[in-house]
Amino acid sequence: MSSSISPQEQSRALFERAVAVTPGGVNSPVRAFNAVGGTPRFIRSASGAWLTDVDGNEYVDLICSWGPMLLGHAHPEVQAAVADAVARGTSYGTPTEPEVELAEEIVARTPVEKVRFVSSGTEATMSAIRLARGATGRDIVVKFAGCYHGHVDALLAAAGSGVATLADGDRDALALPGSPGVPASSTALTLVLPYHDRAAVTAAFAEHGDRIACLITEAAPGNMGVVPPEPGFNEFLARTCAEHGALFISDEVMTGFRAGREGQWGLDGKQEGWTPDLMTFGKVMGGGFPAAAFGGRADLMAQLAPEGGVYQAGTLSGNPVATTAGLTTLRLATDDVYAHLTRVGEQIKAATADALTAAGVPHVIQSTGTMFSVFFTDRPVRDFDDANTQDTAAYAAFFHAMLDRGVHLPPSAYEGWFLSAAHDDRAVQTVIDALPAAAAAAAKGAA
Ligand SMILES: *Cc1c(COP(=O)(O)O)cnc(C)c1O
Repeated sequence: MSSSISPQEQSRALFERAVAVTPGGVNSPVRAFNAVGGTPRFIRSASGAWLTDVDGNEYVDLICSWGPMLLGHAHPEVQAAVADAVARGTSYGTPTEPEVELAEEIVARTPVEKVRFVSSGTEATMSAIRLARGATGRDIVVKFAGCYHGHVDALLAAAGSGVATLADGDRDALALPGSPGVPASSTALTLVLPYHDRAAVTAAFAEHGDRIACLITEAAPGNMGVVPPEPGFNEFLARTCAEHGALFISDEVMTGFRAGREGQWGLDGKQEGWTPDLMTFGKVMGGGFPAAAFGGRADLMAQLAPEGGVYQAGTLSGNPVATTAGLTTLRLATDDVYAHLTRVGEQIKAATADALTAAGVPHVIQSTGTMFSVFFTDRPVRDFDDANTQDTAAYAAFFHAMLDRGVHLPPSAYEGWFLSAAHDDRAVQTVIDALPAAAAAAAKGAA
């Protein structure tokens, strides 16, 4: 099968200009092609399931802005609502109706009683942690390796070698900075544990329980590829926190309104009968604009300024254009949308498994609700160490073969493949047609 994609002259030219004025030529590292090689495609426009780059090439989009575009690109009703909002002015710095309506929609779909809007998922987790520390009067934060919560200093932490020595109360158990520029003092109060490791959680709380303000986890990890929490794991976390007077923060920035209508909580907490103390949202709820939120129990949220003493603020928080986009998106995110995502996801997962199996490429496909990812490894992925067994060279070859055939996957083996309501038969068929050659390329590119 020959490549359907023409040379990327315009993308290459733009990338050269971008690199001259922007670190790495991108404004967020996930957009770079460092992990797969080559030049990122510069996208000129998008419609439904399709991206069009500046050279006029079309791609089925399996990134969907890393989650937000649940309805597909340039959805006519979202566009009309946004155009209407823009015509009324774009920011006032005063309260507006769409903020109230979007908050009501989020409260209706999730167990949170009150929400506060911010402009990014990073701000949401950062603020939720401040609130947890303020409310408990404690300082330690527990997180899991491989869970990403935005670029908050305290959460850009890597597990030290001390997890095993935790029971000794060794300070080495506390985390090391995960990035230059993060001071050790910012991560000295962060504990990083292996995901799914109940014994490590129990030991951490036994040792530090009276100092732990909160445990934050992705409701279902999606930032090391999709790792569905084993049944009862989130419930165990919620219960352990409650037993020690710590708060359980469920980060649904990625899973919220995407894994299902009520996010990951609708898939586990709702059935099992537990509720996070605080939750964070972003991505889908912004409808493609910078909007995110954190929320939770009314008594906790009451501790935020101006009602309470924990300070938190934002010039563009609850922006009327962004909240209009998010509100319109959520109102259109009906059960039919999630059923469609499930159906299309099953087709793509089955075709991908067939193609990789036929080519002899080791792989594991994991899902939670409508979210899924394909791991280029031979073992089930329960934690970050498992995810790191992937053959990233095989993925790079697979990625480029798909891109050459008009399918834009995430340029990293550690990401979900995102779908939208606009992924129709033609889009799915384009993916299916590209898979055999890409699987063959992966077999050849394998390390
Ligand atoms: C994307 C993401 C964030 C960060 O959101 P930004 O808007 O990129 O700051 C936080 N948590 C999770 C689980 C995410 O997927």
